[in-house]
Amino acid sequence: MTSAQCPTCRKASATRKTNAAFPFCSARCKTVDLGKWLNEEYRVPAGATGESGEGDESGTSDGNVPTGSSDRELS
Ligand SMILES: [Zn+2]
Repeated sequence: MTSAQCPTCRKASATRKTNAAFPFCSARCKTVDLGKWLNEEYRVPAGATGESGEGDESGTSDGNVPTGSSDRELS
């Protein structure tokens, strides 16, 4: 087996020898996947404390905010 499948875009990714972002096909897909994991970690289901009345935390994540981390790495 000389190729793997990119977990992000399902395309064939090169081997680790020639691909620094293995098992992803590119560094971009690697960043996208990392962002997904971070988002899911932050999305911890509330209710573990059992406190009712603190549901007013309308903070940074309001809906579908795209992970635009790849756009900020320009300079
Ligand atoms: Zn990919």
